[in-house]
Amino acid sequence: MSSIKTIGLDADDTLWHNERFFSEAQNMLADVLSEHITDSDLAAVLLEMQRKNVPIMGYGIKSFTLSMMDTALAVSNGKLDAAAMVQILDIGREMMAHPVELLPAVADTLEKMSHNYELVLITKGDLVDQERKVHMSDLGNWFSHVEIVSEKHPQTYQSIFGRFGGLANSAMIGNSVKSDVLPAVQAGAWGIHVPYSVTWELETVETIPEHPRYFEADDIIHAANIIANI
Ligand SMILES: [Mg+2]
Repeated sequence: MSSIKTIGLDADDTLWHNERFFSEAQNMLADVLSEHITDSDLAAVLLEMQRKNVPIMGYGIKSFTLSMMDTALAVSNGKLDAAAMVQILDIGREMMAHPVELLPAVADTLEKMSHNYELVLITKGDLVDQERKVHMSDLGNWFSHVEIVSEKHPQTYQSIFGRFGGLANSAMIGNSVKSDVLPAVQAGAWGIHVPYSVTWELETVETIPEHPRYFEADDIIHAANIIANI
């Protein structure tokens, strides 16, 4: 019998695909701006815009759309025409309407875990978009709570897990070492990293830490097995 009572789960790239839609959007932006900048230079400018904008505007598609617009204005020296602006806004709108594509085994594993643990979805991003995705995913039933937060600090996990099973009896599953696993472990909970094929540059860490409450899993089934043995 596991000592874990509460499991926190990240959403984007842990339950469903996300980063790949941002990569697709970046490719579309590259097409719009092809006369002004090469694809690889664009990637660097866009990343810098996001680095600057995320602390002010937060995570998610709206903030990303403004970063695309900022990038377009910068690389065109402010001479971007209205048609291109419309195209960029449409890229953002399309992302907001994108269907939710679950990662393999997620629905079954969540259902099974929900019999033994209290499941809490812990995600950052746009409130409206994240609520839409939870609704469209049909995973909402397996969660007793959904927490949409602006940032994932150790205090974030302290306050969420403190309200449920307590930190020592809580585990966090997520694809980001930086946001999902490290701060949860630092707060006193357990952390299970399930990598996704792509990691957003702003979520990368240089070294994977070693810690007795930190685990690496191949997929969500493996993560559930690890937690069952804690
Ligand atoms: Mg994620």
